[in-house]
Amino acid sequence: MITLSPASERAVDRAGLQAIAAKVLASERLSFDDGLTLLESSELAAVGALANLARERRHGDLTWFNRNLHINATNVCEASCIFCSFARLKTGDPAAYTMSLEEAVGRLRALRHQFVTEVHIVNGLNPDLPFSYYTDLLQALKAERPDLHIKGFTAVEIHYYAEKYSMTYADVLTALRDAGLGSMPGGGAEIFAARARKKLCNDKVDTEGWLQVHRTAHQLGMRSNCTMLYGSIERPAERIDHMVRLRELQDETGGFQTFIPLKFHNEGNRLAKIQEPTDADSLKTLAVSRLMLDNIGHIKAYWPMLGVQLAQLSLGFGVDDLDGTVREERIYHMAGAKTPQELTRAELVALIRRAGRIPVERDTLYRVVAEA
Ligand code: SF4
Repeated sequence: MITLSPASERAVDRAGLQAIAAKVLASERLSFDDGLTLLESSELAAVGALANLARERRHGDLTWFNRNLHINATNVCEASCIFCSFARLKTGDPAAYTMSLEEAVGRLRALRHQFVTEVHIVNGLNPDLPFSYYTDLLQALKAERPDLHIKGFTAVEIHYYAEKYSMTYADVLTALRDAGLGSMPGGGAEIFAARARKKLCNDKVDTEGWLQVHRTAHQLGMRSNCTMLYGSIERPAERIDHMVRLRELQDETGGFQTFIPLKFHNEGNRLAKIQEPTDADSLKTLAVSRLMLDNIGHIKAYWPMLGVQLAQLSLGFGVDDLDGTVREERIYHMAGAKTPQELTRAELVALIRRAGRIPVERDTLYRVVAEA
């Protein structure tokens, strides 16, 4: 049985977290108040030790990654999220782009001699494209690389297409799936609490819509991920509220694979005056996520946002997945992320090993490709 070390027990005692620790040791669900107590605790070591226990109980030392490629087919977007450094552009603006199908396929073709298992597609809400652009895009990518799993289109995009093209969520998802979509990423969740969401992203899908898109995808048999943008204007209780709402949907559908807390970056957007979250805050948020989301298999540290070293450190704070090689990440680099555009497989393997963990290459659906 996995237990706390004597040093961790002392940290738990110092923090006054004995009751919560007892629940974690007994695999009991934590309440909203427990989550808030953990998030507001100043004993990072105690919170981290509890999260590490939950992580090792599920995964031991195994740490997951994949080899993937990002394609952002258009950065034209008619929404106006104030934290966004990627889009909010109109067609014709100097920095605006929309890839032709040939360009998008060319990204894959350039990798034809390399082993990749996933392409990740996220786009702006482009008012100038027909729905067929997206189905043609998927079909063209699949024709080029039938072996690749396409994870694409956030709930924000699915909701936008449903409204714009007068379709139901199920219609949109079914059409995209028939064209080659395999699963959905978790983006666009931001923060569910109405107070913060109204300030951050008033003109895109609301919380109920975001959850309903994922519920629909799960009912159609698709898996998806879920995220939370943390460190901007939300309050601690709003982070916990966000986790609880995801946990409730997961109780209902079981369709989420991974939770990915996304660190707020302040360059190139309208929140430049807000300090970015500290490393301690990031580690605690990841740890609390592991403890609160007892029904979601994986907690991912998205290294392009978090930084490579902090992502590595997070493997002792509840995290069991480091995303992947991530070629051509644009969204967070435009927000000031200083991380590399890509990590090689060897670099990922080495940084997992240096953290004392066992790297496992996975596909999108967490099937083992190779133990490294
Ligand atoms: S976060 Fe997404 S929806 Fe919001 S402005 Fe940026 S690209 Fe558009």
